[in-house]
Amino acid sequence: MGVGVGLTILRTSMTFGTTLLQRRLLVTLELNNKDPSYQWFLPWLAQHNKVGSGKSWTRSHQLSVETAVEHRKNGSSSALFNLVAGQGTHWFRYHGAWIQMKRERETKSTQAVSGIPWETVTLTTLSRDRVLFPKLLAEARDLAMRAQEGKLVVHTAWGIQWQPFGLPRRKRPLKSVVLREGVGERLEEDVRKFLDRRNWYADRGIPYRRGYLLHGPPGSGKTSFIQSLAGSMNYDICILNLSERGLTDDRLNHLLSNVPERSFILIEDVDAAFNKRVQTSEDGYQSALTFSGFLNALDGVASGEERLIFMTTNHVEKLDPALIRPGRVDLDLHLDDASPTQARRLFLQFYGGDEESEELRALADELHSLMETGIQNGQTLSMARLQGLFIQNSSGASLEGLRAFFKPPPAITS
Ligand code: ADP
Repeated sequence: MGVGVGLTILRTSMTFGTTLLQRRLLVTLELNNKDPSYQWFLPWLAQHNKVGSGKSWTRSHQLSVETAVEHRKNGSSSALFNLVAGQGTHWFRYHGAWIQMKRERETKSTQAVSGIPWETVTLTTLSRDRVLFPKLLAEARDLAMRAQEGKLVVHTAWGIQWQPFGLPRRKRPLKSVVLREGVGERLEEDVRKFLDRRNWYADRGIPYRRGYLLHGPPGSGKTSFIQSLAGSMNYDICILNLSERGLTDDRLNHLLSNVPERSFILIEDVDAAFNKRVQTSEDGYQSALTFSGFLNALDGVASGEERLIFMTTNHVEKLDPALIRPGRVDLDLHLDDASPTQARRLFLQFYGGDEESEELRALADELHSLMETGIQNGQTLSMARLQGLFIQNSSGASLEGLRAFFKPPPAITS
């Protein structure tokens, strides 16, 4: 009995001792997926311990895959896989110190609306190495920021939150979107002026927001121009799809009031979202978003923050006048099918680069007159279509496809 009691005491004191020792000697850091550092840490770890470094956690049997799928407007999509540490315990070395990493998922509760489970990563190391944590987090943050530097980040709505969609994209130079004389400059100047007048708005108690509407036929560069303008000003884009299932007035209001800093809000095809009083999709699904709810969200009650909304439509005539009144749309611009001058500029840009040869300029002039005659005969081309024809002849400057396009139809003989 004495031995039994002795062993129990020994075991208890050992457990107690270990806990005490752990408390004294070890330090832990918890990262939760509520916090941005969580999203930075996993890719950093994957990068830090690349296979082949001999100390890689990728030898671990618990990996998890993070897939970024990108759906483009033309219907194509692509997916990228990233292997990161999965649930469970992993070890890695950082500046000579061993760090234990435990990734755990909360199974009982999930994040409201988005349904994403809560997750935590707990890092444990020796107390004397605690200085490494801030260093590690700073490295992870810098890596994430570097991946975005010089790139355009596109966010989409995910539940009631905005989340980056796919990988940051290369910025498109503003001049690569060729608009009619003065149109792009007018929009750019207006946005810059607005951004410079924050105090002016505050002093007068006017909500600091501005709305833009770009309208015109499909493929005239509405979306492309907004995206490259955002890129040139180092802004992100938040794309809002009003026809998305499950989008309610409340959710929209919440989303518009919680836009990430330095972002343009882009609402494409606004006419399509409200062409009937009750939105019913082909399979009978009824949208819970109302037109008045949308207007309220645009006006934003507590909108002290900067808000730049860009709307696009192919059918401006279908829009309700309530939507385009000043305050909701402060500047509207029409982007049209290609004009002869636009076509000429796009042609020179496409084939020319830095140097424009005599020959190239002669071809550009021919294109200009082809377009002029075409337009007189009612043959219009969108900029997107023009770009498509240039791509078909991308091996060298040529007007073959275009000459064929503008060929007058054969005369009808009876
Ligand atoms: P929209 O939003 O008006 O329908 P997009 O911006 O989506 O048109 O353009 C579709 C494609 O056509 C893009 O690949 C873009 O590069 C090209 N494009 C359209 N308009 C222009 C333009 N004005 N200048 C250069 N490229 C253009």
